[in-house]
Amino acid sequence: MTAIGHWIGGEHVSGASGRVGPVYNPATGERGAEVALADRSEVDRAVQTARAALEGWADTPPIRRARIMFKFKDLIERNIDELAQHVTREHGKTLEDAKGSVTRGLEVVEFACGIPQLLKGEFSAEVGAGIDLTSFRQPLGVCVGITPFNFPAMIPLWMFPLAIACGNTFVLKPSEKDPSCPLRLVQLAEEAGVPPGVVNVVNGDKEAVDALLTHPLVAAVSFVGATRTAEYIYQTACAHGKRCQALGGAKNHMVVMPDAELDQAIDALMGAGYGSAGERCMAVSVAVAVGDKVGDALIDRLAPKVRQLKIGPGTDPEVEMGPLVTREHLEKVSSYVDLGIEEGAKLVVDGRGFKMQGYEDGFFMAGCLFDEVKPEMRIYKEEIFGPVLSVVRAPDYDAAVRMVNEHEYGNGTAIFTRDGDAARTFAKDVQVGMVGVNVPIPVPVAYHSFGGWKRSLFGDHHTHGPEGVRFYTKQKAVSARWPTGIRAGSEFSMPLLG
Ligand code: NAD
Repeated sequence: MTAIGHWIGGEHVSGASGRVGPVYNPATGERGAEVALADRSEVDRAVQTARAALEGWADTPPIRRARIMFKFKDLIERNIDELAQHVTREHGKTLEDAKGSVTRGLEVVEFACGIPQLLKGEFSAEVGAGIDLTSFRQPLGVCVGITPFNFPAMIPLWMFPLAIACGNTFVLKPSEKDPSCPLRLVQLAEEAGVPPGVVNVVNGDKEAVDALLTHPLVAAVSFVGATRTAEYIYQTACAHGKRCQALGGAKNHMVVMPDAELDQAIDALMGAGYGSAGERCMAVSVAVAVGDKVGDALIDRLAPKVRQLKIGPGTDPEVEMGPLVTREHLEKVSSYVDLGIEEGAKLVVDGRGFKMQGYEDGFFMAGCLFDEVKPEMRIYKEEIFGPVLSVVRAPDYDAAVRMVNEHEYGNGTAIFTRDGDAARTFAKDVQVGMVGVNVPIPVPVAYHSFGGWKRSLFGDHHTHGPEGVRFYTKQKAVSARWPTGIRAGSEFSMPLLG
């Protein structure tokens, strides 16, 4: 069995805590590897290593850091097949989807290639007699990234490339469910020229996370995961004086208006609801049908498509939906379907108990479709994170928007319509961070920023793009008087420079 350890100071470091976690192949159900779970002393070693690398790296001119990013981009492109295979083997999603997720992460590396431009400061001459003012941004120090299981390539790539391009050093704590791809990414970054110690990986669970959140040498924490964890991370990190951005869970609504192009809406619901087995924070889990006619049409046309989903191991190029990540998660998703029935929703397609021929021990479930879901039901309120789509019905546009706005999550949403007025009003009024107009999964490109509202994000900064640069740097303003010969005299009241 493969033993996965840590990566500290440019070296593989075996786990020393004596604790390990299982890493499964979700398609076969086999326990293919064991990952080391770090204790406080191993975390301390990683943080101290990152701290020791900080000065040299922060003083490296941004153009040199950018050149390394260009090489890193090239190495990711050349190794994309291997990276995607790690994702599919440990997460379960299809290879094509895995490659797509690596590419979305790669786009952040491309953005980080422009770091000299992104770090350019501001300058004002003669703000007072002989005084010039420069403001610029400096790195924070040792930054930490704690990432979820569902995007083991993309989400680490949202974080460490931009953090180190800004001159910080980094400790990554990936999900213990699929640790191989993030580890490989950090090795590739070093192959590209990132000096050892600038990015380190500690694998682990809550014990490692707590050690990072409370470590006095950690300056900032980026987190992506479930809302309950995100809230805890944010509160603990802030209580220990760290800057923190903690992205949480989601319940993304897609509003289908009576004038929507229905074929387009159905295709969008299938891909966004069942792609990656619904294990995406931007998955559409609620279709809001405006008017009963739309509701009936959605159910009539979705049901046969859900039944015909091609399910199987992610390595099969014909497959549309792979397994869920673990047996435990499969059981959780399945129990939400039981709950929906108890709550009175109508289960139109039942994917529970699905067995994949030849892969009977895999963590497979077929697609589920609920109709007549109501906002007071737990299956509506809570994130299920599986291939379960709920159709709710709203009498009109206002009721549909109210539903989206009253939900505790505010990650992504979409409206499908041909009415420009409705689309524009929706984009303006909806209380959600990322909005799609006839686009079901509106994940912003890397040079914009990604993030939700309400209980989908704790903190002030979204991730990557301009907000990412602001998160990983702090601003300094320098007022300088030249020539030194000018004498202002002693000023005892508030100095007025102009
Ligand atoms: P999770 O919260 O269980 O785990 C995320 C990370 O936190 C992992 O590294 C894990 O080891 C650590 N962790 C888990 N429990 C902890 C605890 N009690 N204390 C300290 N650390 C802990 O999330 P997950 O199951 O890996 O990922 C799925 C969740 O992530 C979903 O809710 C999904 O919506 C969310 N997600 C959100 C976004 C976003 O951008 N908002 C993106 C991807 C995933």
